[in-house]
Amino acid sequence: MEKSFKIGPREFVLDQDKAEEAYAAKRVINGRKTETFNLLPLKYQWAYDLYRTMKANHWEPEDIQMQKDIELWQGSELSDVERWIIRMGIGYFSAAEGIVGDNIIHVVRELVTAPELKLVLGRHAHEENIHADSLLYMISSLGINPHECEAMFEQIPTIQRKNDFVNRTSHDLRRDVDMTDPENKKLLARNIFVFGQCMEGTQFYGLFGMILSLYRQNKFPGIGQMFRYTLRDESNHIELFRNLFMDLISENMEIWTPDFKAELVETMREAVALEKDFIRDCLPVSSIGLNADEFCQYIDYIADYRLEGIGLDKLNPGVQNPFPWLSEAINMKKEQNFFEGKVTEYQKASALVTADDDEL
Ligand code: MN
Ligand code: FE
Repeated sequence: MEKSFKIGPREFVLDQDKAEEAYAAKRVINGRKTETFNLLPLKYQWAYDLYRTMKANHWEPEDIQMQKDIELWQGSELSDVERWIIRMGIGYFSAAEGIVGDNIIHVVRELVTAPELKLVLGRHAHEENIHADSLLYMISSLGINPHECEAMFEQIPTIQRKNDFVNRTSHDLRRDVDMTDPENKKLLARNIFVFGQCMEGTQFYGLFGMILSLYRQNKFPGIGQMFRYTLRDESNHIELFRNLFMDLISENMEIWTPDFKAELVETMREAVALEKDFIRDCLPVSSIGLNADEFCQYIDYIADYRLEGIGLDKLNPGVQNPFPWLSEAINMKKEQNFFEGKVTEYQKASALVTADDDEL
C-alpha cells in the first residue's frame, strides 16, 4: 500500500508495507539494526507507558529538607544501631545504585534492539543517577566522611559479596556477544533476572525496610522521604526488568528449559542467603521495631513474591509477611497512601495525561 504526497513540483511516495515490515522486525534482541531510533509504531507499549509513569515520578534530592535529620544525627538520642543502619544504608546504596546504572548502560541497553526499550532503559539509568546523587546529598548533609562510604563497600565482606554476586553476571556480556547463541541469550536473561528480581527486587528491601521503620518512628524524615521516592522508583525498575525478561523469554522460548528455570531459582536462593548475612551485619543487636530474624523472614517473603511474578517456583511457600505495614511498599509504582504522606508528583497536568495513568 503506497501513499503519495504531491507538494508543488515534487512527489513523495510512502510505502506502508515497508513500515509494517520494520515494525514486525522489532525484537527485544536480534531485531532490526537501526541508528535512527524509530520509536513509532510502538511494539512494546508497556515500555513507553512505564517511561511516562517514571518521568511523572521525577524528584530531586535538593527538594528535601534535611534539617531535622541533621539535628538528630548531631544530637544524643540515637542508639548505636540506629546510626549504624543509616551508615550501612548510605554505604551500601552508594555503590549499588551505580552498579545498576552501569549494567543498564553497558550491558542491557547495548544488547536490546527495540528503540522504545532503549528509551525506558535510558530513564532507568538516569534514575539510578538521581539515587546516587541523593546519597551524596545525605552524606554531605550529615557531615559523614565520604571516605568511610567508599571503605564500606571495599571492607565490609557482606557488602562486597552482594556486589560480586551481581557483577559476575555482567562481565561476560561487556563485549561483542553473539546474541543468536542460546547460551548468550541465557546469560542476558540471567543478568536481567539478577539485577531486576534478585538485587533491586529483593536485596534492596532489607535496608529499605529498616530505614522506613525508623522513618515510621519519626526518625530521619528527610532520609526516609528520599528512600520512599527511591523505593517508588525501584518498583518501576523491577517491573521494567520483569516485563523485559518475560518478553525476552517469550521471543526465545528455546532457552526456557526446566534446567534454566531451576538455575534461576537457585540464583535467587543465593541472593537471599547473601542478603540475610548482610541483614545480620546491619542489625548485630535488636532495636525498637528492628529485629534481624524478622527482616530475614521479610526477605524470604519478597523473594517468593518475585519468583512467582515471573512464573518460577517459590523457595518458601506459605511464608508470611512479618511487616504488614510495609506490604504496600513491595510494589508501589505510583503509591500515594503509604504512611498517609502525600508524595509529590512532578507530573504536569497536560494533554498527554490519560485515564489509565491513575489506575494504581
Ligand atoms: Mn536505584
Ligand atoms: Fe533501580
